[in-house]
Amino acid sequence: MDLGIRGKRALVCASSKGLGLGCAEALAEAGVDLVMNARGAEALEAEAARLRADHGVAVETVACDVTSAEGQEQVIEAAQGIDILVTNAGGPPPGLWSDWDREDFIKALDSNMLTPIAFMKALLPGMMDKGWGRVVNITSQSVRAPIPVLGLSNAARTGLTGYVAGTARQVAPQGVTINNLLPGIHDTDRALSLDTGVSNQQGISLDEARAARSATIPARRYGTRQEFGAACAFLCSQHAGFIVGQNILLDGGATNLTM
Ligand code: NAP
Repeated sequence: MDLGIRGKRALVCASSKGLGLGCAEALAEAGVDLVMNARGAEALEAEAARLRADHGVAVETVACDVTSAEGQEQVIEAAQGIDILVTNAGGPPPGLWSDWDREDFIKALDSNMLTPIAFMKALLPGMMDKGWGRVVNITSQSVRAPIPVLGLSNAARTGLTGYVAGTARQVAPQGVTINNLLPGIHDTDRALSLDTGVSNQQGISLDEARAARSATIPARRYGTRQEFGAACAFLCSQHAGFIVGQNILLDGGATNLTM
């Protein structure tokens, strides 16, 4: 399917690995020029070079912490005039409801709620002026059903979801859509780190931790970054202009919901 977005330009935050990289790859395959970001320059430059070579698109890189004020300033400067925004950042650490203090919550809110909001605030007006734009926020299945050990994620991402629900309906008249993609477990470094935590805590091997988690998923496997990226690229396509303010679960059926 031709996604109809060849020649458009996208910012994909936190995109040297994992789900962000999956989105950058799928957009590059659709002919979209990119601004890519991550803190570590080495992996970022390597992936940018690969996408330029594989897809013939222009790729600019900004190596910085996207959750810091200085980082946001640099990325927003590079992303002026973009048509597509994919927000993403690392997830908060696991723990128990009783572990966290105010500072832990502020950090999680900064990373997973206020950072995407800052990007939308800065970049939505340019899209609205052009009468076309797409925003996809990478959030988590934890906004549909809480994950007990990820209380910081449950809290921060639900705040973002509320903001998007209201904002998406205010920018839709100008041809701009905002939607959230909610990953369940995907085969990335984040999943490896969560499984390592389970393995250490329960005294089981990493393979056993992964097998136990896979057994809880109706699809009986982890998602891939390519599957995630393809869903993101579709939401950014011409065909998705009537999808507004939605929260789309990509979780192999893991969240047991009727709707
Ligand atoms: P990942 O494989 O660990 O990749 C994270 C990417 O983001 C890397 O490119 C990393 O590069 C970059 N990054 C992290 N923090 C950053 C920051 N502050 N500024 C700029 N770049 C940053 O993680 P993932 O699995 O793709 O997860 C992406 C998001 O989805 C996370 O918020 C995660 O919690 C959420 N999620 C993931 C899953 C899953 O199963 N994978 C499930 C639910 C939710 P650098 O380290 O070089 O910065």
